[in-house]
This record gives sequence, C-alpha cells and structure tokens, in this order.
Amino acid sequence: MMKISVKKSSLALVVLPVMMASAPSHALSQSQFDSCLNSLQSNFASKGVSSSTFNRHRPSAPDESVIASLNYQPEFKKDVWDYLSSLVDGERVQDGIRAKNNHLDTLNRIQNRYGVDMHHVLGVWGVESNFGQTLGKKDLFTSLATLSCFDRRQSYFRGEFANALKIVQNGDIRAEDMTGSWAGAFGQTQFMPSTFLELAVDFDGDGRKDIVNSVPDSLASTANFLVKRGYKSGEPWGFEVKKPSGAWAATDRKNKKSMSYWRNQGYTLPDGSPLPDSLSSAGILAPAGNDGPIFLVGKNFDTFYSYNASESYALAIAHLSDLIAKNQSYNTDFVTPWPTDDAGISRKQAREIQQALINAGYDIGNVDGIIGDKTRHAIMDYQRKMGVPADGRAGQKFYRLIQGAAHSTTSGAQPYPSTSTVVSTTPTATISRGSRQSAYADAGSNTGATRYRMVVDQNGQKVLVPLN
Ligand code: CA
Repeated sequence: MMKISVKKSSLALVVLPVMMASAPSHALSQSQFDSCLNSLQSNFASKGVSSSTFNRHRPSAPDESVIASLNYQPEFKKDVWDYLSSLVDGERVQDGIRAKNNHLDTLNRIQNRYGVDMHHVLGVWGVESNFGQTLGKKDLFTSLATLSCFDRRQSYFRGEFANALKIVQNGDIRAEDMTGSWAGAFGQTQFMPSTFLELAVDFDGDGRKDIVNSVPDSLASTANFLVKRGYKSGEPWGFEVKKPSGAWAATDRKNKKSMSYWRNQGYTLPDGSPLPDSLSSAGILAPAGNDGPIFLVGKNFDTFYSYNASESYALAIAHLSDLIAKNQSYNTDFVTPWPTDDAGISRKQAREIQQALINAGYDIGNVDGIIGDKTRHAIMDYQRKMGVPADGRAGQKFYRLIQGAAHSTTSGAQPYPSTSTVVSTTPTATISRGSRQSAYADAGSNTGATRYRMVVDQNGQKVLVPLN
C-alpha cells in the first residue's frame, strides 16, 4: 500500500482492488477446523498415518493467508517475455554455472545413472528453487491442513496432507524441514508430497530420501522425475527455428513430426542452416504467437512441462539449461526478438526499480526483485504523475524512466515538469549502502507536501513514517 501524500478517497481507490483480490472468500472458525482435523485423523489412520504421527504434527490453527493465496487472482497481465526475463536472467545463469562447477561430480554420476543431461537437471533446479536457495518457509502441515479443511480442492489436499505425514513417519525428512510454498510444494525440487512418495530417491546413500538438505538426493530425484515422465536420453529439449516465409506459426506442441517433415516444410535453424536430426520428433511452440521466437520442441520439453503444467515455465527451464551449458550469462535473449517495444526486466533491474520507488516515497515492502501488485500500483501512480500511460507495467520503458529520473536528480537537473503532483526521487547515488535504511524519502519536497523517513520496523518490514 502506498503512503505518499494523496487524498483519502484516492488512496482507498488504489488499495481496494488489492484487498478484494486477496481476501479469503469466507473464514473458517477454530471449532470447524478442530472438528475437520478430528475427522481427518480417523480417515488418515486407514491410510497408514498413525495417531501419534498425526497428533505430533497436528496444527493448532489454520493459516488464512494460505486460503488468500489459493483465491488470489492476478490483477496485472504478465507477458511471456516478462516471465522469461526474470526467471532466466544473467544472475541465474551465473548461479547455475557456479552450481554446475560445485556439484560436477554428483551431476556426472546422475547423468550416467539416469541418462538425463546434467544441464536439464540444473535448469529445473534453478527455476524451481534457485539452486536450492528458495525453498519456501510455510509450515507444510499447517498449509495442507488449512487447504484440507476449507475452500476448493479439499479432497486433493487431504491426500497431500496424509502424504506429508507419511514422509516424516517414514523418517525421510525431519518435521522441522517440512516447509514450503503455500500449496504444499517443498524442497529443492519443489515436489508435492505425492510426487515425493512416487519419485524421490536416496542418491547419497544415507538411507533417507532428503530433497531438503541433500543436493545429490534432490538432483537425482529430479532426474528420476524426468525419466519417469518419458525423458529421451541423448536428445535436446528442442531449439529455436526460423519458419518459412508465409507460414503462420501457432503452438501445436503435441502434434509431433519428424525432422525431415519440418525440413520439407521449409523450417531451418535461425541462421538458415538445416535442422539437425538430434530430435526424433518435434512440435511447434510459438509462445508469443506468429511474430515472436518459434521453437521445435521434443519429448524432453514435455517432461519439463509435466513439472509445472506451464509452457512458459518449461521454456524457462529449457532456456536456462542451454545458457548454463553454453556458459553464456551476458546475453539471455533468443535469436528472434519478442514482439514488443517494451522488453522484460531482470531481477537486478526489478530490485533497482523497487529501490527507486522506495526512495520516491512509496511503501512497496522489501526490495526482493519480485514485482507484485504493491509495486505495480506504485508504478501506476508514478506513471500517472509523470504523465505517461499508467499501465503498472514494469518493463524496460519504466526502468529507463525511473532510472533516468534518479540520475538526472543526482546531477541537479530538473527531471520532470515541475507540477504540484510530481514526486521527486531521492537520488540513489547519494545514499550509501549503510545509510539506506534511514534514508529520507521525499514526496514532493519542493511543494510543501508531507516528507517521510523510511525505517525498518520490528518485523523487518520497511515502513514510511511521516516527518511532520
Ligand atoms: Ca539421502
């Protein structure tokens, strides 16, 4: 929620859509939750979850933020190039190259055992958990119990709740390590509990399948997942292609044809050279339609897809794999540009935008490189004040706008037309790293509007406190 100087009525207009989008559809009382868990306990006993296991990990109260996440409807459209530019940026490629070097022996052994290209395993690892860095912090039992007792999809989540309890009962993973996303995915592979029970493996030989603490177990479990979903050893996932002139490309991924078929149709590699025979069969993927990059994708792309049922997601895994294999972090673009004049931003650029917005007086939470609704509403407001179309979009255009403003303020130039509604940014260059937490954020400092100081509260959240 932004807290710069605006009239109450317009503030309410800004805030209302966020609350409507994230509020739970209904509440669950403590007594309803308790009686639901009582009935689950006897039901789970018939599925092999002992009463002592159930009682030891039985949550005392539901987590309503989980239901809010389930019911969340994104307010802003995200294009495929936005998705790719944050999931596959130079930073993540560099982290992937480092992870490959650090775990090369393990990756080689997994590649030999499962026949899965180590870069494909690295691609999944990087996209799923940022190479084991982002596992999710929500207590899995509380999340799954909450989802088991109210709102939609209760029967699915009851199964996953029982499976999560079985995992600790089996002694594979310690209860305190069972944390994850609000929806119950956990560990370095972000498996759901049912996927864990079906596909996780012990690769370091300690007798436990531990996809939270063991890198070998996590990476081998990923390779096993891909193999069980139909991975073809020795094949690439696919590649970018150039369509014959006059052809209309649309995604038809499952309609796979031979490489000779595609060659006969006039498809080539982007540089015009003939398609290789490294894929046994492939279908078209045109993630941005006829005018963007076009790919021929094989069976291994489909195994990435089965990880999260999203073609953009699978393409992120595929592209990250290729860039790590090529040691290429300086340019993460495809050969054919996306059909936009406002390309997506990296996580580094997202963090720079967030910092500039905070410096300009907006309360957007932490600088985390994730452009959420709070940041987008701040962008909309900033755009409105700058007199540019207020679409809330965090792309290269907005990046240049706000970076240019910060830069020209530093150099003493007048960044924008001087009107009473202009928010002037605090020049980032004048704030040292150490003093940032107490930096002044000016909201219209030349026009007598409220001035704010940014402080960090007891919860570690940045908040703006008015100075007058
Ligand atoms: Ca193990």
